[in-house]
Amino acid sequence: MVHYRSCSVHHLAFTGPSLKEGTKWYQGVFHCGYHSEKSYGAASYLIVQPEGNILVDSPRYTDRLARNIEMLGGVRYMFLTHKYDYMIPCRFSSKVCDYNKLSLVIRDDVADHKKWSKRLSCDRILHAKDVEFSTADVEVKLEGSGPWSLGDVIELIHTPGHTAGSVCLLYKSGKVLFTGDHLGMDESGCLSIMETYNWYSVPMQLNSVRMLLELDFEWILPGHGRKVGFADMEDKNSALEAFLAASRT
Ligand SMILES: [Zn+2]
Repeated sequence: MVHYRSCSVHHLAFTGPSLKEGTKWYQGVFHCGYHSEKSYGAASYLIVQPEGNILVDSPRYTDRLARNIEMLGGVRYMFLTHKYDYMIPCRFSSKVCDYNKLSLVIRDDVADHKKWSKRLSCDRILHAKDVEFSTADVEVKLEGSGPWSLGDVIELIHTPGHTAGSVCLLYKSGKVLFTGDHLGMDESGCLSIMETYNWYSVPMQLNSVRMLLELDFEWILPGHGRKVGFADMEDKNSALEAFLAASRT
């Protein structure tokens, strides 16, 4: 089992631009709300920082959210943790479907990235291995295995497995790791790599989880599921080791 702390998140969709002072790590990090069915309801986050704000993954596009983001200074980079297109039968969706109503295309987890890019004039970042037709025009394509830096406090870590180009964002000053679909917590409170939704390689994903032992963070903000908090790095590594040991059996 994973230890987790209860925590309050700023929901940008509902509370507008005010930043709550006094919280150690969430200062400057917003949960955008407006989850999009096009990205399977994935969460997106906004990091507000002097070097330029970063939107992590894509919320559903709405004017209201766009105005709130602009009031916080707009966005310099839109970082996409990963991308994989797949289709589900229309009967599982209430939305109008593509391809002659046969199926709905899910763009895992990039949703309305084009609309956001146009509205906010931001550069989108995605690993080259996850670039497909619908993301061919992203401004920054990461090549190789990194890590890559965005200023002094942001590091991008290549964590292949869920997809070939999955990348986590480490917000060093907040000790927060934005994991996309690489690692999260399941309903029973255990760390999970969501094997059912693996699009590339489970062994590689587990190997990429092992790489997280080297990183200094105390929080995981995933694309799906609950936020995960650890007491400190030792606690984080104990949880990761336990998860990896259980995954070998
Ligand atoms: Zn995914």
